[in-house]
Amino acid sequence: MKKKLLATTAGSLPKPEWLAEPEKLWPKWNLRENALWEGQKKAAKIWIKEQEQAGLDIISDGEQFRIHFVHGFLQNILGINWNKKTPMGIRNNRYTVKVPTVIEPVQRSSSIHSREAKFLRDNTERKIKFSLPGPMTICDTIANECYRSRSTMAYEFASILNEEAKELEKIGVDIIQFDEPAFNSFTDETLDWGIDALEKAAEGLGCKTAVHICYGYGIQENINWKKTLGENWNQYQKIFPLLNKSTLNQISLEFAGSNVPPSLMRLLPDKELMVGVITVVADELETPEDVKKNILSALKYVDYERLIPCSNCGMAPLPEQIAIDKIKSLGQGTLLASK
Ligand code: ZN
Repeated sequence: MKKKLLATTAGSLPKPEWLAEPEKLWPKWNLRENALWEGQKKAAKIWIKEQEQAGLDIISDGEQFRIHFVHGFLQNILGINWNKKTPMGIRNNRYTVKVPTVIEPVQRSSSIHSREAKFLRDNTERKIKFSLPGPMTICDTIANECYRSRSTMAYEFASILNEEAKELEKIGVDIIQFDEPAFNSFTDETLDWGIDALEKAAEGLGCKTAVHICYGYGIQENINWKKTLGENWNQYQKIFPLLNKSTLNQISLEFAGSNVPPSLMRLLPDKELMVGVITVVADELETPEDVKKNILSALKYVDYERLIPCSNCGMAPLPEQIAIDKIKSLGQGTLLASK
């Protein structure tokens, strides 16, 4: 019998409405101080159980402890002025957001996610994955008034990420995933320094390392941008050959419901592939059969041993029940495709 495929999520899952404003990409917390921490733990525990019951094999905290995947990481970094909000055209001017500003050399004052990772480790026997923003995506979500270039700043963040990742590894995190959606917006810079900075963030880690690259979701600007990309989304084509040579172990890509040509997966013959077999933010629910079908079509391009069926990202702003049903279909579809 074949070994079962291992299923996982891209990372984020919706927050319960008693914890944060529901169905938003940048929600506000509904609790404060210690009540917030207790609430986050409760929500994370609920999602750990849901993932286990759904039959997922690699479990995450569903990002219940952070409001946003980048700013959650930046909160304990010195050198950032949070009151100085600079309007920035992020993801290559896809949309403008007022972002905090780096005004002095950045420094990690203390560990950022250790206590959350420890909570995750203590609450499941299964493999755990923890996600961190990648250096390029951080620099595309924060304004720079300190460093001479964006790449210089990215390398500074890469060494901070590396310190943090090493601490998470010690806690028993099995996979550290860096989220780099910015890679698809800045292909030339990605080849120039983005992948190199990412490798610096992952340097010397003994656990598995992954990078998640997607086309974004949730806001109209992303939906509009995707419409301009045409029949074939070829951004991965330039990036994958270099990623295949990198030290990263796993590559997470957008697939179901996208116009990504599946043949691009052949550009990563030496990597494990986390393939999004659930569509990003579609409100309709895939059946386990649909998921199985998506997995089987991915298997035409990637070996069975290297495929990790994955939810796409974009789960965070979904209604809770849809997200639960989607991960159930992911778990069941993975089982069907494993037989
Ligand atoms: Zn994503």
